Amino acid sequence: MNLYNFTIEELEDYFVQHGDKKFRAQQIFEWLYRKRIENISEMTNLKKELLEELEQNFTLNTITLVDREEDIDVKKYLFRLPDGEHVEAVLMKHIYGESICVSSQVGCNMGCAFCESGRRKKVRNLEAHEMVEQILLLEKLEKIRISHVVVMGIGEPFDNYEQLIKFISIINYAKGLAIGSRHITVSTCGIVPKIKEFSHLPYQVNLAISLHAPTDEIRKQIMPISKVYPMEELIQALKEYISLTNRRVTFEYILLNEINDSTECAHLLSDLLRGMNCYVNLIPYNETSHIDLKRSTKKSIHNFYDTLKKRGINVTIRREYGGAISAACGQLRSKKEER
Ligand code: SAH
Repeated sequence: MNLYNFTIEELEDYFVQHGDKKFRAQQIFEWLYRKRIENISEMTNLKKELLEELEQNFTLNTITLVDREEDIDVKKYLFRLPDGEHVEAVLMKHIYGESICVSSQVGCNMGCAFCESGRRKKVRNLEAHEMVEQILLLEKLEKIRISHVVVMGIGEPFDNYEQLIKFISIINYAKGLAIGSRHITVSTCGIVPKIKEFSHLPYQVNLAISLHAPTDEIRKQIMPISKVYPMEELIQALKEYISLTNRRVTFEYILLNEINDSTECAHLLSDLLRGMNCYVNLIPYNETSHIDLKRSTKKSIHNFYDTLKKRGINVTIRREYGGAISAACGQLRSKKEER
């Protein structure tokens, strides 16, 4: 068992079941997330017998850094997991703090046409501790504190729902890493039943949707998930999410040359989203050598932006990070595996 895999409640249960006090869990969280110990033996305020028991039953750090690429405000890391698989994380420096983009699965089954991560099918889900460790390891390596977390790396987080929620609970705990729920964003390609579950979550976590098309017809060409959950169901679930949580939804929209970037697409998108509490983040496509899709021209990007804006949609163009390094989802891992 890995100690970073436990929520505070699970650790309290563990100690109560083992005839110990509930508050032990808080002591352990303090050692793990405040004092940042590397070995269980460093928990010096615990009795010898308990320490021995913990050392026998639990592990701590399991992921290691194997590669790193750096640009001005962005760094990309490749980690090796205990079973030899690899995942990536990206660190971005913003004026408001350091934000990390974490992976949630090894590979991905969603099969989006434009995405490097999904070129390799899902091998397995990450366990919560493997997501937590991405944060801890980067904080240690870079001597920083991370303030914002986005789950937008390799994988579909809603296809690993249970571990995702555990991860959120662990990093959000006030006496642990204490990353505020408003500073956590989960991005999904649109798994409707999980969006519904997420609407009832007792955390104020942000939700982002990879929409990338204004109609089912176009969306089905690039995102197979829309054959399972069509646009109408997706938008309906999001409207319910917004009314239940009172939170604004972010729509991510990659602009792909001559696929989804026409003025007509912008009109259709604004009709679809009109009146919703949302904003659209336009993403210039990060081209990758294995995939034959091209990014939209500067002119179409600005035309798309202007059209949405004129029609009253909140819209931004994503500031580009990591163009010079392999920062598009899954690129660093692909490179590693080709070597
Ligand atoms: N599976 C989740 C989260 C991972 S992808 C999801 O679909 O949202 C994170 C975001 O990066 C998604 O919006 C995805 O569509 C986008 N993305 C993937 N490949 C990209 C590329 N080459 N250039 C720009 N954005 C990309």
